[in-house]
Amino acid sequence: MFSDSGSPGQFDTLDMKKHNFYAGPSILTPTTIQKTADAVINFADTGLSILEVSHRSKEFQAVMDEAQALTKELLNLPDDYHVLFLGGGASLQFCMAPFNLLNKKAAYMNTGTWASNAIKEAKIFGEVDVVASSEDSKFTYIPKDYVIPADADYFYYCSNNTIYGTELRKDPDSPVPMVCDMSSDIFSRVFDPTKYELIFAGAQKNLAPAGATIVIVKESALGKVNREIPTMLDYRTHIKKGSMFNTPPVLPIYSALMTLRYYKEQGGVAEMERRDLEKAAILYDEIDRNKLFRGTVATEDRSIMNVCFVMNPEYAELEKDFLDFASSKGMVGLKGHRSVGGFRASLYNALPKESVEALVACMKEFEAKH
Ligand SMILES: *Cc1c(COP(=O)(O)O)cnc(C)c1O
Repeated sequence: MFSDSGSPGQFDTLDMKKHNFYAGPSILTPTTIQKTADAVINFADTGLSILEVSHRSKEFQAVMDEAQALTKELLNLPDDYHVLFLGGGASLQFCMAPFNLLNKKAAYMNTGTWASNAIKEAKIFGEVDVVASSEDSKFTYIPKDYVIPADADYFYYCSNNTIYGTELRKDPDSPVPMVCDMSSDIFSRVFDPTKYELIFAGAQKNLAPAGATIVIVKESALGKVNREIPTMLDYRTHIKKGSMFNTPPVLPIYSALMTLRYYKEQGGVAEMERRDLEKAAILYDEIDRNKLFRGTVATEDRSIMNVCFVMNPEYAELEKDFLDFASSKGMVGLKGHRSVGGFRASLYNALPKESVEALVACMKEFEAKH
């Protein structure tokens, strides 16, 4: 990815020969990579690497402030929502959310591995009402008919199921505030933040290198539970200190800011959504047309971020050949998750349309050979 020719260390998109379909950590925009590389050498003209400056320096404080402000702007967050960049991954939020918000009972929807993990953690803190689940059909669809009890503290769901390739592209209707794991589709769809009291997303799918998790908390959601919360696990600790109670993941936050600036320049979340819908349609059309392949989930619930597909049964023995063929054409990260098999093409915001077109061309060529 880094060219040996030309000026050393220059990230050159024209020289990028790989089509990166990894599910996470995953592709980042060339500008994010280039600017992160620049800051590793000389951060904000300090003459120091971003790897060696204090998080309390005025230069890094400016990064944090802008990253929080841009997240608010891009997602249209009202003033009473706080933006934090925490460590611990999205998985830490599976326990932090109920620790802070579950007093008596919460409603959960089970749409896959990540939601199941969240349910397991929530049970430590109170009653968990699993109001809907698609486990009966190996998580190949999003449940539609379910009732959320009006006395639940919140309704929890995962908007995009990275492993199975299903997505809720519309905010559900809920009589209670919602908590959402948007790890793999944040910044790819316009949503109504006022329906949520907590949103979180690991950075490594649509934003930055692994290590930071965006946590968006509504002020009024806090302080309602009757339990002691350890300092580091209490959202109020981090809010009070502007997400700098302890050393934040400095480098991923810097990269996140570069991506956020790029999203803004390009036209914001609505524009990302338009492009993502277009890219996904190109690939799903080919999966539906090509005699070798088929999709794995209900058509109406297909994710525009993670496209899962398999060989049709009569061509099952060609699976490895196709992976090898795709790999010879510069495609990486296409192997499906071990719990689904087949293939998964992740089409995050940073993936150019050209990579999707290259994959489609590769599928057509492989079909012609068989
Ligand atoms: C990747 C992912 C996670 C786990 O993220 P970590 O940062 O590794 O804890 C959780 N939820 C979803 C939807 C994911 O895609």
